[in-house]
Parts: sequence; C-alpha cells; structure tokens
Amino acid sequence: MNCTNEPKDGKIHIVATTGIIGDILSSSLDSHVVIDVLMKPGVDPHLYKATAGDVTLLLNADIIIHNGLHLEGKMGEVLHKLSEKKVVIAMSEQLPKHRLRYIDGAYDPHLWFDVELWSLALEGILKQIQQNYPKVIQDNADRINQYVEKLHQLDHHVDSMISLIPKERRILITAHDAFGYFGNAYDIQVIGLQGMSTLSDFGMNDLMRIGDLIIDKKVRSIFVEKSIAPRSMEALLHNVQTRGGTVRIGGNLFADALDTPGTKAGTYIGMFEQNVTTIQKALQ
Ligand SMILES: [Zn+2]
Repeated sequence: MNCTNEPKDGKIHIVATTGIIGDILSSSLDSHVVIDVLMKPGVDPHLYKATAGDVTLLLNADIIIHNGLHLEGKMGEVLHKLSEKKVVIAMSEQLPKHRLRYIDGAYDPHLWFDVELWSLALEGILKQIQQNYPKVIQDNADRINQYVEKLHQLDHHVDSMISLIPKERRILITAHDAFGYFGNAYDIQVIGLQGMSTLSDFGMNDLMRIGDLIIDKKVRSIFVEKSIAPRSMEALLHNVQTRGGTVRIGGNLFADALDTPGTKAGTYIGMFEQNVTTIQKALQ
C-alpha cells in the first residue's frame, strides 16, 4: 500500500451520498474500510442539501462516492469543490454513455433500477478503489464475488417476476420518473407523473394524459413512492375515478431511498425484491 494513502486509524474512510450506494459498498467491502452514508433512509436525494455534519465527514473522507448525473442536485457545488483535493467518484462515470438514458436534454440518474447496470457501476468503483488501495480489494475479494453473484441472481429474479405479468398489463405508473432503466431492462412500460427530478411539478395536462391512458388501457393499479408525498398519485386516482374509470393504489414503491436498516427494504437487494413483488401482485 502507498504510505501516503495510509489513514491514521488504519482504515480507509469512504463516504457515500445515498443509502443505495452505501449498501452496495458495505455489502462488498468489510475489511479495512469504514463506510458512512450522508442521506438517511427515506430521504429524497433530488432535494437533499449537505449539512454541517456532512461537510465534516466529507472533509475527513479518503474516498467520496456519489451517484452523479445530478441526482444529488443540490450537492453539486460541494462535490465539485471536494473533487479538487479528494478522490471523488461517480457511479454514473463507470458506465459507457450509450447505456445511459437521455431524455429531454438530460441524463436519467436512476441507474440502480437496472441491476446489471448497477453491478457494472459497482465493479468500476471497485477498480478505482483498487488503484488507490489494492489491499482493500484483495482482502475483500471473496465478499465482492459473492455479492456480485447475488446481484446477478437478483437480475434473473426480477426478469422472471415481471414476465409473469401479461404483456398488455405491463404498465408501471409512479409518482416520478425513476423507473425508466427498470422499464428498459425488464420490459415494462414506465410512466412517471412528475419528471426525472422531484423538483419538477405536474399539471392538469399530465393528469389528463395519464388518466386517459389508464382508462384506455384499463390499468388496474398505480403506485405511490415512499420518499414522495402521496398527493400526486391521489390526484391521478381522483381524476380517473371522476371519469368513471377504476384504478387503485397498487402499493408503495421504494424509488430513490432505502427503508430503515434491519427491514426487508433496508438493503438494495431487499428493496428491489419488495418492489418487484408489489408490482407483480398489483398488475398481474
Ligand atoms: Zn428520483
């Protein structure tokens, strides 16, 4: 190991912005590292601002890992400044540009909803860590391999669960446009009421347009998201019902944040499994 990179307590301090990033890192790395996560469970990353405590953690970190593509929209300046003196790595930078969704002039940051893509991004991050701290990767090799294999199994599981839904019923309507990669990867049409960031609002036109589609395609269920207030989907429900359509809230999906640690959806894999079960049950 490079002695200039040797931290004082013998551990490499990694700071992840979101819980989803923190979880895949701690699921693959254990020895020699301390992993801290800035955003707490249920927090909306699009709206999150770094606190004074976060800045201290970031300044003391050896490596900072964020999602990129403006997911952490309000942390852009902080991350940019830190990148001048620290190793700051984005998950999105590990992926070839042609694998990213580019919609209405912006890249879609919700990469984790394609398991294969997210796994690829993780492997890219681990390679970068290896360049700076080879012993970390060497001593965690078994753990990394086991986790990557679990992600591979998850990818297959999601595929087979979605394929249980008849093709004409594979329409996933959610509060914001977080599931685009999910739709591409697992062959399901995806519609978000709000745009790719929760900063954008929705209008009467969006309600009417999606309401028409629900009535026309006889969509059975729409979904609320855990980190977003349910009022938008309730407005959509109301729009359809007042026009004689029947649709219900099919469940609560985790989009941009995990549940509290120790619960099923407190990990990336558990969150994904829970979402897919909810979607499959409500649409099949
Ligand atoms: Zn989002």
